[in-house]
Amino acid sequence: MKMKSLICGCLLALSLTGCDTHASPTGRGQTLLYSEQDMQQLGRASFSQMKQSLTINRNPVLNAYVDCIAGRIIAALPGERQPWEVVLFDSPQVNAFALPGGYIGVYTSMLRVANTPDELAAVISHEVAHVLSNHGNEQASRADIKGMGLKLVDLALDLGEVENRQMCMAALGLGAEVGISLPFGREQETEADIIGLELMARAGFNPKAAISLWQNMARASQGEPLELLSTHPSHDSRIEELAAQIPKVEGAYREASRRQLRPCRLR
Ligand SMILES: [Zn+2]
Repeated sequence: MKMKSLICGCLLALSLTGCDTHASPTGRGQTLLYSEQDMQQLGRASFSQMKQSLTINRNPVLNAYVDCIAGRIIAALPGERQPWEVVLFDSPQVNAFALPGGYIGVYTSMLRVANTPDELAAVISHEVAHVLSNHGNEQASRADIKGMGLKLVDLALDLGEVENRQMCMAALGLGAEVGISLPFGREQETEADIIGLELMARAGFNPKAAISLWQNMARASQGEPLELLSTHPSHDSRIEELAAQIPKVEGAYREASRRQLRPCRLR
């Protein structure tokens, strides 16, 4: 099957028979129009597309480092049994992403901004939290509500158009990569911060590193626009909100730290 038709197969299977209301992991009401299977198929196809269009980094030391951190986070996911695929991409862009279906992409330049294992764990956990919270599904569904729905479906039906693929990928948070702006909303960012913090703590990474990570990100963005911030916009009170959440996950971090966890080091 051709890539484009595979990617948009999920949208062809769209059921618009009614608004399906769900609750997010933090209890926020969400309208999700797509099935989990559709989103997984879209994630798989988008990841395959990313692997074709970007250079994969094969450095064994860097790969072992990223795999170690991602592996501990995946092991901390509730009820997760299927393996996730983790790929390190060579790129001057500061970016990372996670996709439904179990895929994580980290760009080498992210290691300049997330410069400790705990900070990289904060980025990956935040990305995985967007997936756990169905934010890609919500993005695509919100686009529908705003009147873009028909356009999205029309694009999906027109398998000859490259825009189909781009629109699908933008809904998953890959907008920076395909040049379509569909950034996550503030409530989705806050939610990914909360869920991500809990996840990294359960994986034995210091949740305080989420604060230094976003501080590094703000500093780095003064010199250059960061790709990650274009799809994951930060807001003024993010650091305060994170700081308020940290006491809630410190118990989980202490408990995880008592277990024999594999240390993740670059050298
Ligand atoms: Zn985000």
